[in-house]
Amino acid sequence: MSLLTVGTVAFDDIETPLGKAENVVGGAATYISLAAAHFVQPIQIVSVIGDDFPQETLDLMTSKGINLEGLQVKQGEKSFFWSGRYHDDLNTRDTLITDLNVLATFDPVLPDTYKKTDFVMLGNLTPAVQMRVIEQMEERPKLIALDTMNFWIESALDSLKEVISKIDLLIINDEETRQLTGEYSLVKAAKMIHEMGPRFIAIKKGEHGALLFYDNDVFFAPALPLAEVYDPTGAGDTFAGGLMGYLAGTGDLSFENMKRAIIYGSAMASFCVEAFSIDRLKTLAANDIRTRVQRFVDLVRFDAELHI
Ligand code: AMP
Repeated sequence: MSLLTVGTVAFDDIETPLGKAENVVGGAATYISLAAAHFVQPIQIVSVIGDDFPQETLDLMTSKGINLEGLQVKQGEKSFFWSGRYHDDLNTRDTLITDLNVLATFDPVLPDTYKKTDFVMLGNLTPAVQMRVIEQMEERPKLIALDTMNFWIESALDSLKEVISKIDLLIINDEETRQLTGEYSLVKAAKMIHEMGPRFIAIKKGEHGALLFYDNDVFFAPALPLAEVYDPTGAGDTFAGGLMGYLAGTGDLSFENMKRAIIYGSAMASFCVEAFSIDRLKTLAANDIRTRVQRFVDLVRFDAELHI
């Protein structure tokens, strides 16, 4: 199996209560692919950068089995840039700057080798670009997942709803769920999103874990309680990358396997927040992931013998 992902490959300026990082590597597709590469190969990226993006990061991605054939490089132009400041609770942040740069005119072109991929992760970027990727697939993928952000809910709601109608799994945070549906209850909001198209909905709740909705079933995955969170940037994308990488690697779309995938996604996100930018993902080994997933299992395991 393989996994195709589209999303930003970017530079970020980040400010959190524990520090600042300027002009560091970020972007949805960067985090997604680095997380997913632990579970499935190859990962196929569709994205765009300027000629300012570090070759060292591209080499790192290639070394992890990430295929960059669908990554366009625009000479003389600048990569997507985002800057954000986190509040003390680390679950909320303000976007200070979004400079689309190369993304403003991006027309994704899928190499022929990408067009029959079974698993597609439409990472956060312009909804019209996410749609163009679906349109170029020669066969309907087994599973199409999509992540988005308040920026697109505010600026491109109609085209976002159109692409949501074509997908199987929506990955979205609690605040964006409420913004998208106008409904405060996440249970009612998930029902409304089911009616828009997706069979599965994964709602991320930051340090409070994630919920997976499927028909009338719901599953909860905790987040690992961590003493220090350095930088939550990319945690959502890393969650999506771990989840989709695990699904593509196993090829199993049963609800039971989706539950495992949500736990793998949560485990990957717990690494991401331990350092700024992609730093923790660069050095992650398979054994770190196994140990971390076991901590999740231990975190929620309890004896359910009832005494009443
Ligand atoms: P996350 O923290 O998972 O929401 O992802 C943060 C990453 O998304 C950062 O590395 C940014 O470069 C990227 N990003 C921020 N805003 C946008 C946007 N409007 N569209 C696409 N990617 C974005």
